[in-house]
Amino acid sequence: MTAMLLDALLPTRCPLCGHPGPVPCRACRKTVPPVRWVGAPSGVTTLTAVLAYEGPTRTLLAALKYRGATAVVQWLAVIMAEAVGAVAPLPVWITWAPTSRVRRTVRGFDQAELLAREVGVHLQLPVEASLNRQGSQHQTGRSRSQRLHPGHMFQPVPHLPHHGPVLVVDDVCTTGATISAAAWALRSAGVSVVHALVAARTP
Ligand SMILES: [Zn+2]
Repeated sequence: MTAMLLDALLPTRCPLCGHPGPVPCRACRKTVPPVRWVGAPSGVTTLTAVLAYEGPTRTLLAALKYRGATAVVQWLAVIMAEAVGAVAPLPVWITWAPTSRVRRTVRGFDQAELLAREVGVHLQLPVEASLNRQGSQHQTGRSRSQRLHPGHMFQPVPHLPHHGPVLVVDDVCTTGATISAAAWALRSAGVSVVHALVAARTP
């Protein structure tokens, strides 16, 4: 049985206070900080972020990454889909910035893909894999310069399924380098409008 499946079958607990029930619980939802300001990184048409990446948000996203909390994905996807409703021109499809192969193998899933697929359900848009990640260097093991100038971090797939306005989903945006690299890869394949939607942004 996979970790994800096991996770879905177990009774849920709030990752912030440990209380059994909704993830996060109603009381803790009020403690998760909303994001205050969002600037779009290079190549990105608009960036929508829902939460400030600090305090309880870090705990929530750590639960998502390291314990496979599918209930966290479901809650995040609802608030992310609500937040992105007003962007123009409206996206007609959704993709994600894939995590490295090493991380995907270790966790058994790609949290960006899980978020993208769940947001797609709420927005009723097709969700397609469109990017391949180059190499397997971990963001944390790279210099600031490398992170800010990622070069060819992503390659578009050979036959992109759509070329209309796209929404790229990721879990966290810190320097903006990853989402920017994803946007430029999609632009290189003929997509001219690249919106980004992330659960959390560094304040
Ligand atoms: Zn709680």
